[in-house]
Amino acid sequence: MIIGIDLGTTFSAVAVLGADGEPSVLSNGLGESTTPSVVYFDSPGSVLVGTAARDAAAVDPDNGVALVKRRMGEEFELLFHGTAHTPESISALILRSLVEDAKRQTGADAGEEVRAVITVPAYFGVREREATFQAARLAGIEVLELLAEPVAAALHYGVAARPGSTVLVYDLGGGTFDTTVLRIQRDGAQVVATDGDSRLGGADWDERVADFLTQSFAAAEPDSDPYDEELFLHEVRLIAEVAKKDLSERASRPVSLRLGGRRVTVPFDRSTLTGIGSDLVDRTLAIVDRVLSSAEGKGIRQVHEVVLVGGSTRMPVIAAAVEARLGRTPRLLDPDHAVVRGAAIRAGELAGAGRASRSTRSVVPRSFGVLIDDSHAPSGDRRVVVHTVHRNAPLPAAATTEFCTIVAGQDSVRVQVFEQAGELPSEDPAANRRVLDGELTGLPPLPAGSPIELTLRVSEDGLLRVTAREPRSGTVLELEAYMDGVVDGESTRRLATALGTLTVRQ
Ligand code: AMP
Repeated sequence: MIIGIDLGTTFSAVAVLGADGEPSVLSNGLGESTTPSVVYFDSPGSVLVGTAARDAAAVDPDNGVALVKRRMGEEFELLFHGTAHTPESISALILRSLVEDAKRQTGADAGEEVRAVITVPAYFGVREREATFQAARLAGIEVLELLAEPVAAALHYGVAARPGSTVLVYDLGGGTFDTTVLRIQRDGAQVVATDGDSRLGGADWDERVADFLTQSFAAAEPDSDPYDEELFLHEVRLIAEVAKKDLSERASRPVSLRLGGRRVTVPFDRSTLTGIGSDLVDRTLAIVDRVLSSAEGKGIRQVHEVVLVGGSTRMPVIAAAVEARLGRTPRLLDPDHAVVRGAAIRAGELAGAGRASRSTRSVVPRSFGVLIDDSHAPSGDRRVVVHTVHRNAPLPAAATTEFCTIVAGQDSVRVQVFEQAGELPSEDPAANRRVLDGELTGLPPLPAGSPIELTLRVSEDGLLRVTAREPRSGTVLELEAYMDGVVDGESTRRLATALGTLTVRQ
């Protein structure tokens, strides 16, 4: 079975390519086309995934996990019913649930092998990609490719088939905003520049609407104190999202609120929603400006197409604001399924052509480099990260650089590879995070300042390999792709065993 999976921050989805070449999104056991990315550990032997998990976690948050994608690649464990889980194992449970949906919907055997294209954000670094690989492995999925989400969206919109054009992808989901400039080439779509805000999405609108509704209630009923009523506030948050969505279809939608014996109908229309969310829209546009100027630095003077992705782009104000800013009418077609549909299209391509062909290329999401002692520093103890593979370089990328030993007779060199952690590359170690650490040992007696060659390679799948070589003796250090924050072989086995005993329900 060959499927496309959108493993999202708030929602996930699975799709398959039909015989007619059209992707179809497969529904889950509840008939929903997207599944909340929430896991709830209801007993030592079973977990809930999706809407039921979200509802259960709302009442009993200690046994639920949401937004785990934000922690991918981080080293942390959560204990549920005495078993330790990681972001990888929790994601694996979501993947397992999606695979079971796909098997049920397509009538495949439970034991049938699954190969999938799984989408990841364009900014995902080595560790996050490796963690996603691990999650898929734990779920028993063979990964055909980890595909950048904006590239998947471009496949859905069909713009990936127009060589020579450039596309801006504007992706506003439930909790994150991403925007990417793609260059379409004969051999596929290439990410030119990407930017975003991982704490900006539909949920911010929901919060604003809930505040507006609660304030309106309090103003209409001055003797009441709705801010003290937990249940009321919870209900208002749910109503706020429904009302927000309704305003994508109609201009006005009064909201009735009840607390005790009091009932208030709050007038709510598009212009109110536009007003309370206008600074949020402006924040997305500022990021669009930033990604455009980054793309301009790489020779992109113009975008030919603008495509909208993510459920929140259904709000009419988004298309209007994007059009006003870019002077192009953006395309809006099934935006909540754009990524998963693109993943299915890509999976179909790979299955049809064998794994060798690649119609999509991506870029290095963040700069990589090594930690060195800065010999120019007067104090002699300043350490800096020298980036040698730069972000937005096309994948696969490689760079060989020469560094020097510090003292005469030094018999080993510690090699620490760092990845840019902040939004912009910086040589400050605090603005980077370590992804590899090793030692080149057994060096012959050498004078201080002897060269050590260091090669960093990032493969098309985003995996990092490092070779350090002392040229005179030929001593070589090949660093294992051990990455901080990614489970190693033994804990993978332990997690696989733990997951094997769990039943996944919806
Ligand atoms: P995604 O993560 O792409 O599935 O987006 C989910 C977000 O889209 C949530 O914040 C939803 O409230 C929002 N959303 C879904 N449908 C609509 C709609 N018709 N109008 C406005 N927002 C929507």
